Amino acid sequence: AAAAPVAGSAGAVEVTNARKVFNGFEAVSDISFTVPAGSFTTLLGASGSGKTTMLRLLAGLERLDGGTIRMDSTVVASARPATHVAPEARRVGFVFQTFALWPQMTVFDQVAYPLKVRRQRERLRERVRDALALVGLAELADRYPSELSGGQQQRVSIARAIVYEPKVLLLDEPLSSLDAELREYMCYELQRLHRRLGLTMVYVTHAQSEALTLSDQVIVMARGKILETGTPRQVYERPKCLETAGFVGGSSVLRGVVAERSGQDGVRVRLDCGGQLWVSPRGVTGDAAVGAAVALAVKPEDLAVAPDGADRNCLEATVEAVAYVGSHCDLSLELGGERFRARTSKSTDANVGDGIRVRVDQEAIRLFPA
Ligand code: ATP
Repeated sequence: AAAAPVAGSAGAVEVTNARKVFNGFEAVSDISFTVPAGSFTTLLGASGSGKTTMLRLLAGLERLDGGTIRMDSTVVASARPATHVAPEARRVGFVFQTFALWPQMTVFDQVAYPLKVRRQRERLRERVRDALALVGLAELADRYPSELSGGQQQRVSIARAIVYEPKVLLLDEPLSSLDAELREYMCYELQRLHRRLGLTMVYVTHAQSEALTLSDQVIVMARGKILETGTPRQVYERPKCLETAGFVGGSSVLRGVVAERSGQDGVRVRLDCGGQLWVSPRGVTGDAAVGAAVALAVKPEDLAVAPDGADRNCLEATVEAVAYVGSHCDLSLELGGERFRARTSKSTDANVGDGIRVRVDQEAIRLFPA
């Protein structure tokens, strides 16, 4: 059944120089970013990079040690002068990794709870029904959590977070406890929900595939700082630093020295492990002067078994491992002590120990100062 949208309007979020310190350890270290109203923004980073802490600061579950958070231009948190608007007064919904449902409450009561806490009793039944319909759970209102699948439990926690019409929905790794198939399905569900609600969503994950699938904007974090911000395509195809290339694109790193520069052809790099590669001008970060030490980031799918007769940008490597994945083959290759990965066609016939010639797509290589 078609449901009326629960939410009213989306809110913009502006974070300026946010800092959070736990016992002398800077979990969030002077970071600034903007989440446009209505956007789907993801904080992407490895475990311990400070994503959850940043989300909890937005929710008001942690207090800032430095900086300011504004929602729709209103300061909701600030270290100096000290301001801390309580979580329930922020018009922010929070979806936890663990769902955090109460075992002894029915689905209906779980979703009604935030309205009761906020003393919003008028139209309560209708609002709860609307929220449940939005996540496709209208029929299951009388069930208990133990009678629901993982995906259904997650939907209850989403319904509970949107029922009081927040302007911003915060989601902390909401799919990580679901199995792979359900995770993929829920990814599309979240996209649909975002379009339908028109809410601002801030999503935390360490899974690059989720970040790329869902986001308008990806904020890549490491060690409490922001490495870079961009669209999924930007951070995946044109990362601004080696660390993003490795984390988001799964790139291997090949080190070398710039041997030649040519305006049209780009930069020729002699690799430390043997062989040489040309990098297109648009793949070059920094000045890459002749003789400079550089690092090349190469994504697995940008290598292919070299066609007969091909010469340019080909490397002779040894196959160290072969994983047939169905849709393609993942090869682990070795060349002069360097290891790198190649994702080749499923018809690749390679065995461990074989010598193999691979060609690297010149347009896809990113060059960074070493
Ligand atoms: P994960 O994906 O593992 O949840 P994360 O990127 O979300 O990681 P945070 O949970 O924000 O990272 O933690 C960042 C750092 O701050 C970690 O080193 C963590 O140990 C530390 N930290 C987080 N919360 C606390 C706390 N309440 N007390 C002390 N240290 C904390």
